[in-house]
Amino acid sequence: MTSPYSSNQEIASILIIYTGGTIGMVEDPKTGSLAPFNFQHLVDHVPELKEVKHLYTSIQFDPPLDSSQIGPQDWTKMVKTIADNYDKYDGFVILHGTDTMAYTASALSFMLENLSKPVVITGSQLPIGRFRTDGKENLITSIEIAAAKKNNIATVPEVCICFQEYLLRGNRCKKVNADYFEAFESFNYPPLAHIGVEIEIDEEYVYKPATIKPLTPHYNMEPNVIVLKLLPGITPETLKGMLSIPNLKGVVMETFGVGNAPSFPWFIDILKEASDRGIVIVNVTQCMIGSVAMAIYDTGSAMIDAGIISGYDITTESAVTKMMYLFGEGYSPDKVREYMKCSLIGEMTIHDTKEN
Ligand code: ASP
Repeated sequence: MTSPYSSNQEIASILIIYTGGTIGMVEDPKTGSLAPFNFQHLVDHVPELKEVKHLYTSIQFDPPLDSSQIGPQDWTKMVKTIADNYDKYDGFVILHGTDTMAYTASALSFMLENLSKPVVITGSQLPIGRFRTDGKENLITSIEIAAAKKNNIATVPEVCICFQEYLLRGNRCKKVNADYFEAFESFNYPPLAHIGVEIEIDEEYVYKPATIKPLTPHYNMEPNVIVLKLLPGITPETLKGMLSIPNLKGVVMETFGVGNAPSFPWFIDILKEASDRGIVIVNVTQCMIGSVAMAIYDTGSAMIDAGIISGYDITTESAVTKMMYLFGEGYSPDKVREYMKCSLIGEMTIHDTKEN
């Protein structure tokens, strides 16, 4: 089915991009095992879509990917698909495995600069072909949100995750549950919408571009970024080893509480030496809720002196993809540090500028 851009206030045109994951799976009647279905026959599997008043077209990744396989080159493919079809559709729904959905949502939020249309990412915990699936509800609600307009302007013009009861900002999300339907949380930013009998969009929290500019897609992501999770008893050898990885560009260092770390001189020396070599190190907390505040403790102050950047309340997923994006743009380490201290697209809340 082709769907021309709809200038109708009521009826929107939506592009559904199936990348893989559980949502698109059906049981093979012969073997009983799960296999991805052909999205050309989407309505056969989700007959409820006949009730949706909006126009939609679906395309799928070939082959569909389990989200644990998704990486920078797949984000580029998603960005390209959106950029190539940007003028033809009012909104985009990406169907994606839940496991790395928060990384994809964060990456796309940085890669799709000047986005003024909704990109709603969803998936499901149970395949769409299963009787108790959560996939149909998630898909239909995502289409409704991607289609929502007011005075012909998109109501939610940002990259978001729609899952069960909530619509969440994409670059604020975490997958928090492997078993239950409520799989995502945004601990440090309120939901953009509550999904119940009505879809209640909280416009106060939705990102609104000041002016509508042409989409500027970015395609390059630097893969040499790692996550370094501190643990009690971490040794100088481990720290040195990780910071000596060839071609390493950026480190998201998950610290304790409000950004706390051991105060041993060797610890600070190793970080400073890496930082002086041009490796950008960003401090994020291992806690789910709250923000880094390095200036509170002596070790924190020593880390600031060693060139470590506060990630405030950013998620690890967002910090990793933000650094991949900034280095992918070719910025110098100092420029990356400067941008890591700012919120580019609502990914963090800066509470205290003494931090950096
Ligand atoms: N392993 C699957 C994936 O992330 C799980 C899911 O779709 O929820 O692709």
